[in-house]
Amino acid sequence: MKIAVLSGKGGTGKTTVSTNLAKVMNWDYVDCDVEEPNGFIFLKPNVLKTKKVNVPIPKIDDEKCINCKKCVEICQFNALAGTNTGIILFEKLCHSCGACELVCPVDAITEEERSIGKIDIGQSEDIKCMRGVLDVGEPMAVPIIKELKSLIDEKPTIIDCSPGSSCSVVSAIEGVDYAVLVTEPTAFGLHDLKIAVSLVKEMKIPFGVIINRAEEENDLITRYCKEEGIYLLGKIAFDRKAAVLYSQGKLLIEDEVFRKGFEEIGRKIEGVKRCN
Ligand code: SF4
Ligand code: SF4
Repeated sequence: MKIAVLSGKGGTGKTTVSTNLAKVMNWDYVDCDVEEPNGFIFLKPNVLKTKKVNVPIPKIDDEKCINCKKCVEICQFNALAGTNTGIILFEKLCHSCGACELVCPVDAITEEERSIGKIDIGQSEDIKCMRGVLDVGEPMAVPIIKELKSLIDEKPTIIDCSPGSSCSVVSAIEGVDYAVLVTEPTAFGLHDLKIAVSLVKEMKIPFGVIINRAEEENDLITRYCKEEGIYLLGKIAFDRKAAVLYSQGKLLIEDEVFRKGFEEIGRKIEGVKRCN
């Protein structure tokens, strides 16, 4: 069972929900927010293994190249430029599609590997924890996310996604059994929640909503969920205790009230999954 936790925008508490649910339910944890993977701050796993993530890029043999520029024409990502003296590759624009190698008439193009980041694998008590870390300045998160997901085993696993609805999020939620959408009761929160809802509906993924920083008097998201027939998994109260624990790098479940709340949410997710 794979459960993706996502949010329409950053700063809504997606990682708070992911890490606390993982710990309280004893589910494995995978941080696919590879540009800013901060779940390990709270779960504090022992990192047991690190592996590099490489992507293939073309290597051009100038001795063989006849400067026909067929490779430049076929590249859909403008990663190759033709000059009078040869071909220039802009590595970070390359999407590793391999088309240039296929069209080269003199086999002047071969592949070489380029490192774009790494994967850390560790253990926090009974929980296996993995995170992808994209190198600074690297534009392509998807290869790391795909490799991370290929390492997930049969145990129930929480996938902490990037904020927004970019291709990184699409890649992270592809094939999951259930999605948890985290939002906050503000106009921005509602706007971005609607985008996240459209995405999971488009991908036909069953989902529920958690309202973070919930206040009694503000029922903006509750009303929206009711109107749209969306399952409300739970609310996390807007409480100073949460801010204090968070600022100390601690899980909210260290507080008994929050722990019970996350246990209840976890049971609901398991219940929903059994019904599907
Ligand atoms: S592998 Fe694909 S994206 Fe990369 S340079 Fe060749 S054609 Fe362009
Ligand atoms: S297709 Fe091959 S021969 Fe033609 S310019 Fe590119 S590398 Fe050179």
